[in-house]
Amino acid sequence: MIECSLSKDLKISFDSYLIGDLSSSEIVAIENHLATGCSFCQQELIQIKEVLASIACIAPLATPSDQVRQKLLARLNIEARPQIPLKLVPAGKKPWYRTPLTLLGKIAASLGVLILLAETVFLVHFNKQARLQAQLQENKIQVLQEELKKKQKDISIIETSIEKSRKLIALDSKLISKASGKALWDTDQNSWTFYISNLPSPPKGRTYQLWFITDEQQVISGGTFQTNVNGSIQLRLATPRKCKNILEAAISLEPEGGSESPTGAIYLSGPII
Ligand SMILES: [Zn+2]
Repeated sequence: MIECSLSKDLKISFDSYLIGDLSSSEIVAIENHLATGCSFCQQELIQIKEVLASIACIAPLATPSDQVRQKLLARLNIEARPQIPLKLVPAGKKPWYRTPLTLLGKIAASLGVLILLAETVFLVHFNKQARLQAQLQENKIQVLQEELKKKQKDISIIETSIEKSRKLIALDSKLISKASGKALWDTDQNSWTFYISNLPSPPKGRTYQLWFITDEQQVISGGTFQTNVNGSIQLRLATPRKCKNILEAAISLEPEGGSESPTGAIYLSGPII
């Protein structure tokens, strides 16, 4: 075992050594001695350190003297770990959801303005289309109204012409109440159209014969005819050449082949008005 060679003064100054309250020469002397491996002093130092630690825990807070404070600060500066320089990392692009709200707000506002603009453009376009459609409809209506006016005028002319050139004759029956007929006389074309209905088919060997009666009491044949199973027929014929100033039309029942003048009963007749 190595004999302790540390001076008595330094031996009792271990507490001062631990709190840094020794001169540098005294510190060097103690540390050189400890480096020799003196187990006695090492043990002593450990014990004193533990005692100091326990005292530090229970001791009230005290303001160190200026001298002690300076030494402590100096020691802290020496032992302080060197500061690791901060690495400057370039800021990466932030994802959209970390974009500041003000920017998002601006984007939203811009989008809103764009949407409003698009809507406005659409509405303007739509209104324009609607106006065009309305204008087209109005033009169409005007054209149709013009056409209608023209047609009405045409119809009016035709009606006047018909009134002048056509005559409608109603034929009645005194023998068969259901039987009736109408005759349309086109004086321009000098043609007749008879519409006979509900005149029963004549008995075998008999026929119907049409007559025109003039103002000179002439009775001129318009020809013979048969009605169909329903008792109706439509006849078209030209006015017989000899007829002038026709006053009446009549239909009689005659022997097959017809007669020179009426011999049978008059089934239908009507005056020309
Ligand atoms: Zn020693």
